[in-house]
Amino acid sequence: MAVHDWRTELVEAYPDLFHPPVGDSGAARGSPECGEGWRDLLERAFARIWAAVQADGGSLKVAQIKEKYGTLRLYWQGSLSPEASAQVAEAIDLAEARSACTCELCGENGRLYGPDWLTTRCMTHARGRPVERPPGFENIHLMQRIVDGRLRTVACRRYDRALDRFVNVDPTSLGIEEE
Ligand SMILES: [Zn+2]
Repeated sequence: MAVHDWRTELVEAYPDLFHPPVGDSGAARGSPECGEGWRDLLERAFARIWAAVQADGGSLKVAQIKEKYGTLRLYWQGSLSPEASAQVAEAIDLAEARSACTCELCGENGRLYGPDWLTTRCMTHARGRPVERPPGFENIHLMQRIVDGRLRTVACRRYDRALDRFVNVDPTSLGIEEE
């Protein structure tokens, strides 16, 4: 049996999304492999995901939740309508964007540190040096797709941590060329 901690509590709050083995919630495959600082953003994400799945009537199983290059990754399998899939994708995008500005250890406002091992940390828990982004690019999230063999920016959004939502940004204001 795994230790009963916040991860187990999240799995037990959403058994129809994590599908844990009977009697052993700690052993669910999708149980979060990240720090407790991201607990809150995962709870926000799962409230959204569960609402989308319930409204849809389809099925979803969390395959993996982990940290990679300093931010959250959330993978799932299942069968949802295109509309519900888009709602789940948006919930995951919001969680990933929030993880990029939230200390993985304590949940306070954070930023990316590096350069060798990338982590998102507050000043208290920082290791290494801040990874600098060009001015104006803080919390910018580009959605890019290959169109006709070329990588194109189809959406440019800034994550607003206080409001927990995206705000559209004109990519040309950041010097990103439009085709
Ligand atoms: Zn911290």
